[in-house]
Amino acid sequence: MHLHDLRLRLRAAGAGPSHEHRILRTWSQALPRDGGKRPTANYFPAGLLAELPAIDAELAALARVQTVHPGEDGSERLLVGLADGQTVESVLLPRGGVCVSSQVGCAVGCQFCMTGQAGLLRQVRSAEIVAQVALARARRPVSRVVFMGMGEPSHNLDGVLEAIDFLGTVGNVGHKNLVFSTVGDPRAFERLHRQTVRPALALSLHTTDAALRRRLLPRAPDLTPEQLVDAADAYARASGYPVQYQWTLLEGINDRSEDIEGLVRLLRGRWGVLNLIPFNSVEGSGFARPTLERCERMARTLHERGILTKLRHSAGQDVDGGCGQLRARALGGATQ
Ligand code: SF4
Repeated sequence: MHLHDLRLRLRAAGAGPSHEHRILRTWSQALPRDGGKRPTANYFPAGLLAELPAIDAELAALARVQTVHPGEDGSERLLVGLADGQTVESVLLPRGGVCVSSQVGCAVGCQFCMTGQAGLLRQVRSAEIVAQVALARARRPVSRVVFMGMGEPSHNLDGVLEAIDFLGTVGNVGHKNLVFSTVGDPRAFERLHRQTVRPALALSLHTTDAALRRRLLPRAPDLTPEQLVDAADAYARASGYPVQYQWTLLEGINDRSEDIEGLVRLLRGRWGVLNLIPFNSVEGSGFARPTLERCERMARTLHERGILTKLRHSAGQDVDGGCGQLRARALGGATQ
């Protein structure tokens, strides 16, 4: 279900604008509905009150936690079942973040990603995206939502931007704490500029070599790293939030001295931070994670050369490895 369909459903049940807002706010923020100044019974018209149990059942059916996998770093990886039996992954991050999925599967086909191997099965609808946040909030407070789970958000632009507008208003998430993560797509850049709720931008760069990028991300839009960084930088300056450049570190592929030189050339003077994320090893992928010492040395060198760089670890990587592996395991297709 999309959020606009959900609103129509509430209106058909007799909800006026304030009732609609209260139902959507309590749902998306996982608040007690009687927590306001006026208890529900005195606030809602009788017809809507009678419909509430059915509405609550429909909201609960949008997404359900199937399994929970705690990580040693304080994260929790959730396998989430959708109403039609499809599953996606959400990750509760340390310090109040949640990483949500925007698609079941993904069409980009990144060589190092388990989600990309199965192709795209379907879009995650906007209400299902918000439902992932509501499920996370039922477990712990959430103040930051990153669209870095399964799927490429720019391939589900209408759904993701509707969810972002909702979360940045009714859902009480600060705009800079909504992070739209993309491999880079001209349509996404164009739409982001026109948003009322403007999220921060994360750009999956991974290499500064256009030919290598075509091989690693075979079905990403064919923009050169320079074009991508130009577009991301323009959005950063328009939105007021620095870009997060994402770089999955693959041994021997993008952790070499020429990669450092390429990064210095490309990112010097840009407004952003480079996140180096050591690869989550997937057996049979043909890629390996560089040693910690090598990752640290690369981060240090880049920092010394004027590139604001952080060495990150993807949350819950001790739990079934990277994004998509939990789902693959649940389906019996995991490689680990
Ligand atoms: Fe899709 Fe992201 Fe996986 Fe690439 S890394 S295949 S964009 S989910």
